[in-house]
Amino acid sequence: MNATIFPALEIPETLAAGPGPGNTDARVLAAFARAGVSDHMQADVLRGLIECKLMLRQLWGTANAHTFGVAGTGWSGLDCMLSAILPGDTVVAFANGTFSGIDGLTIRMKAAMREDLAADPMDPKPAGVTIITVPHGQSVTGDLVARTLAEKRPKWAFMAHWETGSGRVNDLAGFSDACLAHGAMGLVDAVSSLGVADFAIDDYPGVVGWASCPQKGVLCLPLTYAPVSFTDRYIAEVRKTGCASYVHHPVLEARHWGVIDGQDVTTPTYHRTHSAYAIAAFHEALRITLQHGRAAKARDYAFHEAALRAAVMAMGCTVTSDMTSLVVLNLPATLAGREKELVQKARAKGFGIWPTLSEPVQVRIGILNQLSEPAITNIVRRFAAMLSELGADINMTKVLAGLSRHYATAVAAE
Ligand SMILES: *Cc1c(COP(=O)(O)O)cnc(C)c1O
Repeated sequence: MNATIFPALEIPETLAAGPGPGNTDARVLAAFARAGVSDHMQADVLRGLIECKLMLRQLWGTANAHTFGVAGTGWSGLDCMLSAILPGDTVVAFANGTFSGIDGLTIRMKAAMREDLAADPMDPKPAGVTIITVPHGQSVTGDLVARTLAEKRPKWAFMAHWETGSGRVNDLAGFSDACLAHGAMGLVDAVSSLGVADFAIDDYPGVVGWASCPQKGVLCLPLTYAPVSFTDRYIAEVRKTGCASYVHHPVLEARHWGVIDGQDVTTPTYHRTHSAYAIAAFHEALRITLQHGRAAKARDYAFHEAALRAAVMAMGCTVTSDMTSLVVLNLPATLAGREKELVQKARAKGFGIWPTLSEPVQVRIGILNQLSEPAITNIVRRFAAMLSELGADINMTKVLAGLSRHYATAVAAE
């Protein structure tokens, strides 16, 4: 066998202007690189874990003791949250895009019996799970949730808060109320909303489990932690029924973050080997978000998203999303069908925008960590250049005048 040693891997700096990840703050990267090698039980590493836990409670807006980070990506946190679903459980899941669709698959896998898995190993369809599909581009309404839960009366209900595939905000209050009214335990994918939207999970008592990710609103890509939070009701259920995971066990994993028997302790217990680098980076990312302030950050996202939205509309695009970190759009009619070509050309130039990952094909432009007039103007210019390259006739004077007006109004209003 020939031994092959490849050249050192070089990865360029691009503008991550998609649904996520967002460009990592220099402070987070510095914290990552600055951390010394210390093992996972060293005193400052443990203090960092505990401080991250306390900052996560502030970010989530909760007094839930079981609030911590699951090592990995968004799916890792979701796997931890959904691990409470056992074979044979009844679940209603609402899907309105790519990600809630995959959550639905995870749920079907968790709720599947052996026979269900054997019948369709990659895509099991257990009888107890109902997936309610809401068309792409539409939101899940509280009405729909209430009607469905009243009919099905499941043990668990699931929804994404913000569905990043279609850029839609779903009705969290309606979901929580319906769960309470119909005796379901609510589980929410808050991967895209945490750190962008201003919400406090303790205001939604129908939801017992929450899961987010490191790389979107929390902006800590150096592979770190997916924030999760569980109510006492959820934890009591897991304590009663158990779950089939050691690593993603909601009760056992919390021990390393200093939560034992539902109490905060200063001497955590080993669960797995945490990285001092990851803890240092995550700690800094949480500090940055709390320094910005949950409400102020949400206001800034809404303000800059409105600027980008108006600019792409001035270019002849139509916007179908209502999230504030992401614009999902249809190209001008003359370019319809060329979405993937446009995105590929943009990505080849280091301008990282995305198509939708499920039908219909649309373009997604995100503004994670791009909260300034120069940053939004840069995104607008680069997107306009891509449209022009494909032959669109863009009136750049008008587009930029609109942007200037948007930002001038804000300064005047301050
Ligand atoms: C991004 C995303 C995920 C998956 O997160 P990863 O970090 O890629 O694992 C899941 N759900 C939603 C709503 C998302 O936006």
